Amino acid sequence: MNIVLVGGGHAHLKCLLDIRKNKFPFPDQNILLISPNQYQYYSGMFSGYTEGLYSEDEIRIDLKDMAEKAGVTFTEDIVTEVSVCDKTLMTKAGASIPFSVVSFDTGSYIEGPSSFEEYMVQIKPNYLFADMLKVYRDVDFPVVVGGGASGVEIALAITAWRKKNGYPTNVKLITSSKLLPSSSSKTSKVIKEIAVWKGLTVIEDDSVEEMNESHVITQNGRSLPHSQVLWLTGPSSPDIFKRSTLPCDQNGFLLTEKTLQAKGLPFIFGAGDCITLESFPDLPKNGVYAVRQAELLWKNITSYLNGEVCSTFTPQRQFLSLLSTGNKEALLQYGRFTIHSKLAWKLKNKIDTDYMQKYI
Ligand SMILES: Cc1cc2nc3c(=O)[nH]c(=O)nc-3n(C[C@H](O)[C@H](O)[C@H](O)COP(=O)(O)OP(=O)(O)OC[C@H]3O[C@@H](n4cnc5c(N)ncnc54)[C@H](O)[C@@H]3O)c2cc1C
Repeated sequence: MNIVLVGGGHAHLKCLLDIRKNKFPFPDQNILLISPNQYQYYSGMFSGYTEGLYSEDEIRIDLKDMAEKAGVTFTEDIVTEVSVCDKTLMTKAGASIPFSVVSFDTGSYIEGPSSFEEYMVQIKPNYLFADMLKVYRDVDFPVVVGGGASGVEIALAITAWRKKNGYPTNVKLITSSKLLPSSSSKTSKVIKEIAVWKGLTVIEDDSVEEMNESHVITQNGRSLPHSQVLWLTGPSSPDIFKRSTLPCDQNGFLLTEKTLQAKGLPFIFGAGDCITLESFPDLPKNGVYAVRQAELLWKNITSYLNGEVCSTFTPQRQFLSLLSTGNKEALLQYGRFTIHSKLAWKLKNKIDTDYMQKYI
């Protein structure tokens, strides 16, 4: 039988390390990893890559190599459906894969209105990011939509890269709220001042109403030229769970217990952005929680297969947030504490490069 890991996200990377440590933990089971690309790109370093601080090799992990070292079979493919009755996965390439246990760490998607699709830059799945941003950062009229952490970071990184490389610093960021709406109003104000000072045009409390091949029209009547739009408006669910009639929250994310097992289906596990924990439905979807869940996932898969009790995941109340603002500066937030400095960027760089070292 097969234990199948679907997606090469944070939690499955850690599973590969754990499996490698305990060589052949289940001799009667094959362990498979399925992901659409040989490489997993690390989003914590997307802004640094965009700004030209890291090379492509520095921000990606070779899943095939990691899998081989762990004795896991890697297949480049996309899982499209799960049959719970037959315990079988269907893939885009047409394979039908029986499993005893399956685990999903497939991340989230970004969904803009379908009528704008032809004008939007597609950066998900995340292996598309590097090629897309390399092209996008030097277009004539860059427009970023979304004022959350990823929109702000990437808009500032494009601005920094353009300044360094002699391009006009005409990047525009449109957001329907204030910048960083889930932070305090003081932090939103601070990041806006930083962004404006760094040359980013910030348009708050406005949203995109129409788009044509050359312009974005906003609800408040602005008409802005664009050369495609980088849509970074928060996570939406992969459609696989709904399509497979697995337990989902109202947004289509896989609904799980604190043990990371799908509700009512203990042989289906999940971690990272693609799940919603029933006990913590409002937990933000970011790399911090994906990395924390990673510590538990393989241990629980092993416990389940051995008929033991699985451990439960309890999210920490606060986490350190480090948002790169360009030119090796970052905004550090922890609880009510906020500081913008070069030291904060050095800390971010250290955390990110240490993380990557574990997988290279
Ligand atoms: C531009 C940007 C910047 C960000 N910066 C940060 C940051 O600095 N810090 C932070 O904490 N968070 C950041 N985030 C959020 C962060 O990317 C996610 O929260 C995190 O990557 C989630 O990890 P994951 O393990 O759930 O999945 P991911 O890291 O997204 O990995 C999912 C994997 O599954 C694969 N996959 C997808 N669908 C399928 C399928 N059907 N079959 C097989 N494989 C599949 C994908 O190709 C990918 O390899 C950022 C997001 C964006 C968009």
